[in-house]
Amino acid sequence: MEFTKRFDKIPPYLFAELNRLEAEKKAQGVDVISLGVGDPDTPTAPIVVDVMKKAVEKAEHHVYPPYAGTDLFRNSVSNYYKRRFGVDLDPGSEVLALLGSKEGIAHLSMAVLDPGDLLLVPDPGYPVYRTGAIFAGAQTYTMPLLKENNFLPDFGKIPEHTAYKAKMMFLNYPNNPTAAVANLDFYKEAVEFARKYGIILCSDNSYPETYFDCDPPPSILSVEGAKDIAVEFYSLSKPYNMTGWRIAALVGNREVVNALTTFKKNIDSGTFTAIQEAGAYALDHCDEFVEEMREIYRRRMVKMVCALKEMGIDVEEPEATFYIWAPTPDGMDSFKFTLELLEKTGIIVSPGSGFGRYGEGFFRISLTISDERIDEAVKRLKSVNLSGMKVVK
Ligand SMILES: *Cc1c(COP(=O)(O)O)cnc(C)c1O
Repeated sequence: MEFTKRFDKIPPYLFAELNRLEAEKKAQGVDVISLGVGDPDTPTAPIVVDVMKKAVEKAEHHVYPPYAGTDLFRNSVSNYYKRRFGVDLDPGSEVLALLGSKEGIAHLSMAVLDPGDLLLVPDPGYPVYRTGAIFAGAQTYTMPLLKENNFLPDFGKIPEHTAYKAKMMFLNYPNNPTAAVANLDFYKEAVEFARKYGIILCSDNSYPETYFDCDPPPSILSVEGAKDIAVEFYSLSKPYNMTGWRIAALVGNREVVNALTTFKKNIDSGTFTAIQEAGAYALDHCDEFVEEMREIYRRRMVKMVCALKEMGIDVEEPEATFYIWAPTPDGMDSFKFTLELLEKTGIIVSPGSGFGRYGEGFFRISLTISDERIDEAVKRLKSVNLSGMKVVK
């Protein structure tokens, strides 16, 4: 059988290889600790689960949902944006419910880009920005996120003809995998750049509530006039421990919101309205819950950063997200380092190269396992001589 040639263009999925190795180790009886996957380990707030239980029983939820999302959910997203970011959104035209941000990110490329069009993507970055463009038959231009620039793209380095050609750009702060935060000045610069070159600006705001010793990270829509050219993906997955529920929203520029709505009308039929009811409840009532989650991640982050520093790894405390982005010992190849670490400690981390070529030389630790397992991981890390690993380079 033959399938679309676009599959051939999708970069090899390093994480699939890691999953295979993890299964192999487990089969050998190794007690594997996975710090690889960014998926909250603690459950959704019990009160949200209760709302869901009752919502499931309502017959009005058993039919096809409205395409753009329920009024209840869209109002809650709009209220949250006002309360948290000071951003005004018209729930009727500037908010679209999604089956998670991943779906929306991939589909937006298909709704916006034609074959030959150009998408600007950050590297290292969430792999879906690139794969969405590949499925649309479009081209991508890589914006390197370098440590010396605080993992922000340098717009001045983008050639002018590339900027004119570009149709859309993705940004993601607080950033996965680098844990970097963008401030409002950076967003102003991004909006100005996108406006100058006629680029649709897409911000992926997946970690708005996971921050530590910094000001609450802003939304790109807080920039005045941003809605003329920008949209933002806001996901309930990470802040409310709802990755399995599949609920998020696209907000901002109404033409872009409308384009994705049109695309989705032809592909899916929306998010189960009971889930939207539970999502709306989380947005309206769970500020305390996200506060507790911040404290949990902070505790784990401090322990892990201390352990890494003790081992001579040059790492700083991240300001946001539940990730630690650390350089490999002596600049070792990140995949080799990951394999070596698994071999020596039974710990799995994510190799930086899995997030793009500018991720090479780094690895990512996710803090989404229990405190007990974090303690065990710290103990194992302290028992191994990481710097000594350079011999296997
Ligand atoms: C987790 C994550 C997503 C996906 O979120 P869903 O809403 O669960 O699809 C998107 N972008 C980034 C950067 C993420 O880390």
